[in-house]
Amino acid sequence: MKILVVEDCRSNRPQLGQRVERFGSTALPAERGGDAIALFAEHHPDLVLLDVALPDMDGFAVARRIRALEKSGERTPIIFLTSPGNDADIERGIAAGGDDYLNLPINDIVLGAKIRAMHRLVLMRASLLAVTRKLDAANQELVRISSSDGLTGVANRRYFDDAISVEWRRARRHSNSIVMMICDVDHFKSYNDTYGHQAGDDCLRKVATAIREHTERPSDIVARFGGEEFAVVLPETTIGGALTVAEKIRLAIRALDIPHASAPSGFVTVSIGIASAAPGFDNPPDDLIQAAGKALERAKHEGRDRVCRADAA
Ligand code: GH3
Ligand code: MG
Ligand code: MG
Repeated sequence: MKILVVEDCRSNRPQLGQRVERFGSTALPAERGGDAIALFAEHHPDLVLLDVALPDMDGFAVARRIRALEKSGERTPIIFLTSPGNDADIERGIAAGGDDYLNLPINDIVLGAKIRAMHRLVLMRASLLAVTRKLDAANQELVRISSSDGLTGVANRRYFDDAISVEWRRARRHSNSIVMMICDVDHFKSYNDTYGHQAGDDCLRKVATAIREHTERPSDIVARFGGEEFAVVLPETTIGGALTVAEKIRLAIRALDIPHASAPSGFVTVSIGIASAAPGFDNPPDDLIQAAGKALERAKHEGRDRVCRADAA
């Protein structure tokens, strides 16, 4: 254990630092409150033995400063060194953030016992911290799994529904427009029929990766919207900029050169519907999704492997 030993060495007591080292601990000695606080911040000791009377400030103030330095969830035990019969000091010490006290002059047996007891607390806190960290990591993983699509790794529909409402409100606050596109794989049913469902799955993974690679901003949302449909939301983007992104995505997927014998082009292609909206209180995101869907229908109707925008009927 690393023990910060704060005692006024003008007193004629035997050096406490040397005594704690006999119990297998490492002592960090400080004579002044200011030094103690600096040592605490630098070395993060496991225990603090703290004299009430110090040359520059009292031990209570030191304890309060130490507590203020600790991050949430951290708590280093502080034992005050008090004069016997001075119950008020014990009360003030606990109020200032102390955990226990030792009466001066300190008896070695009591000192050893208290160090052992505090060591147990330190170990318990460390294992609690380890469990908490594991739990946090597991929770993060759970959030990731529950918001991503198992097949393609992009966000799933559940995440999309939450994310678009958040983006919708953000865009409304900043009077920005928001663009959405729906990319749908062309003739995908016959792709599955020709090459099998497993090949179909592989194809969807490649399409998803290509879409993700061509949406650059961290705020862009790429989600699997349904079977072979992907939704892309581009916040703070003009329709012109989004058309460029959509065209890049369309070309990138064609450039994957995935053979599709029963499609007219001979390759896997996508059709993309695009719509934009200026979010207000009376137009829900559903209208935007519907408009993008309508534009997608038109792209299909006009021959597939193309990008169509909603308001260019
Ligand atoms: P269109 O060009 O009009 O979009 O025609 P399409 O055949 O792509 O459209 P349709 O809606 O008729 O068929 C979609 C197909 O996507 C049918 C379904 O079996 C397939 N599909 C959906 N989800 C998955 C999946 O997770 N894996 C695979 N392999 N296929 C899927
Ligand atoms: Mg579809
Ligand atoms: Mg399709």
